[in-house]
Amino acid sequence: MPAGVPRPKMMFTPPGPGNPPPVRRDQEEPDQRRSARVDPGGDRLFPPPTRPAGVLFDAVLLDRDGTLVEDVPYNGDPEKVRPLPGVREALDRLRAAGLRLGVVTNQSGLARGLFGAADLARVNARVEELLGPFDDWQVCPHDDRAGCRCRKPEPGMVYAASGALGTVPARCVLVGDIGADMVAAGAAGAGAIMVPTPVTRPEEIAAAPHVARDLPAAVEEILRRQNAVRPAAPRRDRAGTVLVVRSDSAGDVLVTGPAIRAVAAGAHRVVLLCGPRGRAAADLLPGIDEIIEWPLPWIDGNPEPVDPDDMRHLTERLAQVDADEAIIFTSYHQSALPLALLLRVAGVPRIHAISDDYPGSLLDTRHRVPVGVPEPERALSLAAAAGHALPDHDGPGLRLRTDAVPPPPAELGGPGYVVLHPGSTVQARACPPELAARIVRVLAEAGHRVVVTGGPHERELTALVAGDLGVDLGGRTGLAELAAVLAGAGALVVGNTGPAHVAAALGVPVVSLFAPTVPYGQWGPYRVPTVRLGDAGAPCRDTRATSCPVAGHPCLSRLDPADVLAAVRLLGVPADRPPARTGPAVGVAAVAAGSSAAVAAGSPAAGRAVTTSGGSGR
Ligand SMILES: [Zn+2]
Repeated sequence: MPAGVPRPKMMFTPPGPGNPPPVRRDQEEPDQRRSARVDPGGDRLFPPPTRPAGVLFDAVLLDRDGTLVEDVPYNGDPEKVRPLPGVREALDRLRAAGLRLGVVTNQSGLARGLFGAADLARVNARVEELLGPFDDWQVCPHDDRAGCRCRKPEPGMVYAASGALGTVPARCVLVGDIGADMVAAGAAGAGAIMVPTPVTRPEEIAAAPHVARDLPAAVEEILRRQNAVRPAAPRRDRAGTVLVVRSDSAGDVLVTGPAIRAVAAGAHRVVLLCGPRGRAAADLLPGIDEIIEWPLPWIDGNPEPVDPDDMRHLTERLAQVDADEAIIFTSYHQSALPLALLLRVAGVPRIHAISDDYPGSLLDTRHRVPVGVPEPERALSLAAAAGHALPDHDGPGLRLRTDAVPPPPAELGGPGYVVLHPGSTVQARACPPELAARIVRVLAEAGHRVVVTGGPHERELTALVAGDLGVDLGGRTGLAELAAVLAGAGALVVGNTGPAHVAAALGVPVVSLFAPTVPYGQWGPYRVPTVRLGDAGAPCRDTRATSCPVAGHPCLSRLDPADVLAAVRLLGVPADRPPARTGPAVGVAAVAAGSSAAVAAGSPAAGRAVTTSGGSGR
């Protein structure tokens, strides 16, 4: 490509239908846990980058109009290109940090005949003249009627750009000004930051995983996050025994997995202290040599009273670990300090934790993290503050020891089914049962095999939801068995609960029915293709409520099952058989809280490999 004359590229080969199940290794002996640290299945999401620029991101993808330059509708005139304030300097900061830059832009003016390919090339050349070179340009020349896989919110250009830049979507972050940008990034598994303009719709801003006031602020955030997971002073020697702590539920333990792998990469021995509700997840994590299961009454949502004898026994048990250091991982509303005191009493010489509260002499590293950082990165940044970094060959995504995952039940047939997990231990985040049943019906009628999962206490729920159309596995899956079922899934439909993170760890796409009680950018499925559904601006937003505080649970109950089907199609999961009958109309779905662009769900092109080629835009 001649310098300064970027030409639109429209080659796109989407990933295979859904995701193939991870390659299984032979069963390993318990004492081989450490060798299972690097999980083979994770390579699908995090292949070694060709030129690693950092732990989190290799590349930044940028929307053009409204993000880099002023939005002049259907602009074919280079004279009208006006960069937004501070954009040139911000882009140069990214370039200096070694990040590659790509542009992903919808230009339906080509399809509408409002300008020609030569005009577009001149406009893009002017953009590079003013803003410096970009390493890749992806342009969708289609309009809504084409049903292509490139027009945002379709994820095609995110896949194409990441591939052209020598990396994968999960190592990219996209910056854009409308909901379609956020949906496209999420559906490919990339990070996303919204830089709203005065015309960005409020519901699109509410649904964005992260919002910055403008591109320079977004760049500041990207570089801050990139640096936060890198130790300021890497260790010279391997650490001895490190006690890592993550109490609370399975999801909490799973999102701490990347940080535990970082610690394990530089320590001789890793001992995890977790609670009973997180134990099954801990058993699935790579990098752990020993697990101590013990409830901490200051963490648990329904705590037992503090028993002095129990605390004495816990302190003795912790002293037996003979740890050289301890890292206490917490959520932002939890305090590390009570356990830090016990660890001091147990004689642990060095203790690291996040604490806004003054820790006195309880902590050696008092780390602080802004609100809104994804939980896995929050934990990774604490590990980094303690001097532990992920090795170059590892990525920040969630992973499981696949050797600890049993084979899936034979009755499910081959891979490619859609799993619906309606329940949650937290009522405010569960999918209403009646809605879940309608989702099963809509998916089944569209030709998908549907599998319904739930815990031992959810058998009635799963039976109701599965009805005659879904396979009911209620009560038959512990976390490891659930992982086995998910490993063969084309996608998981689930609320904000532990199984979403299991799917993320397996690289299985997620339709996230996300009650906004906690921030999506912090707790949404991490670095896996995801479509967010539900009302992000509902009154329960940021309440951290465990029981829905609003009559009728409107953040999820008003959801249209047709939107779930559209999301499954956006994620590229094909149906197994032709629709049972004429399905519901899903031409325009309110994916991600009212995205303005249509989801081409009903088109024959959606959901299977499409290659458009040629640079003419016609
Ligand atoms: Zn297109």
